[in-house]
Amino acid sequence: MPHDALREHIFSLQIIDTHEHIPDEEVACADTLGFFNFFEHYVSSDLVSAGMPRASLEAMRNPHNGLLPGERWKLMEPWWPFACTTAYGRAMIEYMGELFGAGEINGETIAHLCLRIVSARQPGWYHTVLREKAGIDKALVIRWPGQSVDVDRELFRAVPILDHYATPSTRADLETLEKEAGHAIQTLDQLMAAQEALLDRFAAKGIVAVKIFLAYQRTLQFDRCAQAEAARAFDRIWLSQKLDLGFADLKRLQDFMTRRLVGLAAERGLPVQIHTGLQEGNGNRLENSKPTLLTDLILDHPKAQFVLFHAGYPWAGEVSAMAKNFPNVYADLCWMPAVSPAFAARTLDEWIETIPANKIFAVGGDSNYVEGAYGHCNRARRIVSDVLGAKVAQGYFTEGEAEWVAGRILRENARELFKID
Ligand SMILES: [Zn+2]
Repeated sequence: MPHDALREHIFSLQIIDTHEHIPDEEVACADTLGFFNFFEHYVSSDLVSAGMPRASLEAMRNPHNGLLPGERWKLMEPWWPFACTTAYGRAMIEYMGELFGAGEINGETIAHLCLRIVSARQPGWYHTVLREKAGIDKALVIRWPGQSVDVDRELFRAVPILDHYATPSTRADLETLEKEAGHAIQTLDQLMAAQEALLDRFAAKGIVAVKIFLAYQRTLQFDRCAQAEAARAFDRIWLSQKLDLGFADLKRLQDFMTRRLVGLAAERGLPVQIHTGLQEGNGNRLENSKPTLLTDLILDHPKAQFVLFHAGYPWAGEVSAMAKNFPNVYADLCWMPAVSPAFAARTLDEWIETIPANKIFAVGGDSNYVEGAYGHCNRARRIVSDVLGAKVAQGYFTEGEAEWVAGRILRENARELFKID
């Protein structure tokens, strides 16, 4: 059966995972919550969406309130039957079963499951799960503002977020930046110097891209802005002691500094990964994240390399058209296999037909946990295998072409763009 051979090939590939939020291993090893540690995101959002009160969620996942596993389970039990039917829930049930031997998760089994998770998470667990079980060669991992970019380079490459140099809104924010920069930031010129120096420090430490996360808090429309205008916005932040600056006051500075980051990244050969589409969590302005809002930014930076994340869900067609249109726009499906395998498969099918094969990334788990990375990356492999298998059955690709495309979108494209050796 040719499809079986293709699937076997796809599951044997050492993949490069383009997007994770995995913390350092000692953080996972210090966890005492077990199962309830897995609710920082995703299933937690579906529990809230299903009706779970936010206070119950916070109590369930608070490691310091002394609740027993059975008591935590009681808090989520009314909502779990509804949240465990989503793709987030299915993925969790699957990786709990495969990695920890969990059968049905309920009030009877929960204490034992928690124990198994806590005892499995020992030094070396990351290597076991990511390299041996998930077949991940390298994973690109996000580092938040203020975090070091030193990562275990056997498994990871760092991708920092530098949005905090674009979004100061109070004197206190500037003081935080001053601590990081080690010098005063009283003018726009000093802010620009600090942004550039930080990027250079990170580049010297081997980061492979920068990430723009701003669609969680504002529109992705970054307008062209003269430096003098940005300086006026900066001065308002600096000069106002008690201030209540709104987005209209701050936008010019944010636009200017974000555009500048894109320019600096391009000069250093660092691609820019941008969150587009659905924001994780409950309650946000989806329209802020529309991929086509980036058009002006892209047109003005032909030398920058833009990787549009999450297929711009639900605007995957915009990402298709943009990656087809612009030589410097890349399409990344990361997170979508966890959100909806059906959407991910439809989208990948369309992308293969619209976007040159060197500009598609098909695997990124986008998880806070290695176990989630394992589950989501396995699901991505299944989707790639199903979509390419169907393409072979239709006569669109030969078996050999399908294998080659799988290697590009699961490994080689990321290895080349992010210069991973
Ligand atoms: Zn993410």
